[in-house]
Amino acid sequence: AGLALQQIRTGSNREYVLFQPEMRENELNNIRMFQALREDLVNDGFHLVLQPIVDLDYAQTFTEGECLIRWQSAELGFVPPDVFIGLAERTGTIIKLGRWIIEEACRELAAFIARGAPDNFKLHINISAVQLQQPDFSEHLLASIQRNELINSNICLEITESVLLQNSHEVIDTLNYLRRLGLSVAIDDFGSGYSSLSYLHLLPFDCLKIDRDFVSGIIDDQKSEAIIASVIMLSQSFGVPLVAEGVESAEMGEKLQGMGCEKAQGYHYSRPQPFTAWEPNDGTITVNAK
Ligand code: C2E
Ligand code: MG
Ligand code: MG
Ligand code: MG
Repeated sequence: AGLALQQIRTGSNREYVLFQPEMRENELNNIRMFQALREDLVNDGFHLVLQPIVDLDYAQTFTEGECLIRWQSAELGFVPPDVFIGLAERTGTIIKLGRWIIEEACRELAAFIARGAPDNFKLHINISAVQLQQPDFSEHLLASIQRNELINSNICLEITESVLLQNSHEVIDTLNYLRRLGLSVAIDDFGSGYSSLSYLHLLPFDCLKIDRDFVSGIIDDQKSEAIIASVIMLSQSFGVPLVAEGVESAEMGEKLQGMGCEKAQGYHYSRPQPFTAWEPNDGTITVNAK
């Protein structure tokens, strides 16, 4: 436990805080979670689910989606990614976990295509800054794509502006290299960071995803609506599609479509589900709102 504590602390540059007695409980929780995470990495405790990204023009079927990790811990029960991804990042475990995610995503996608999903299905994979900073990131990613007989354009990397906090040049070079090879890059949670406009200028990207926090206000908050309208214009000026995240009703989808937003993702269309729960039929996969 002493070692784990040390690793948790030294792995964390930005979130380092002095130990206080009332944090003890929390630190202990972190250690337990860190150990469970490491054990479950070898014990099959993780799986991926797929959530459709639809074209608002015809939101009944999909050919693009985001894969999201799920952890059913033997010891801790279900732990949401918002809780354990941060810990995995701070402890460096994300490097191994991230490799597993990419390999598993490629394996699941290949099986999905074999079951009838379109060959050109585009799968979005969330990538942490720490992962992207590994010098062998591209090598591992491309090897997973090849091993599973996919094509590079099957994969879209979802990143956030936090990738620019360190080693920006290397990260930008990596992204440009991968884009030249046919992969695409989406900027996730757009608008929720600190320097959105300045990093748009630095980061290469093929798609913008506007944060759920703005989308949730689309119906009755004029400020959210104004922000969304300007992000739609921005994406149009850049010539890239905009995905609205967290669309939870038909009314929201219709409003976004009327405003010129091209794509959407959210519970109104489908919740994330295991790949095997989707049943392609002649290359067509129907959304499944439940
Ligand atoms: P994200 O990449 O922005 O993913 C979208 C999140 O919104 C997902 O939460 C998804 O289940 C949720 N969502 C989708 N539609 C709706 C909706 O209509 N309403 C609401 N309220 N939520 C909706 P999830 O799966 O809990 O993931 C949370 C975050 O954890 C992700 O945000 C991403 O930052 C991170 N994450 C998830 N999987 C991975 C992964 O494989 N690798 C990495 N590095 N991070 C991941
Ligand atoms: Mg994402
Ligand atoms: Mg997002
Ligand atoms: Mg998010």
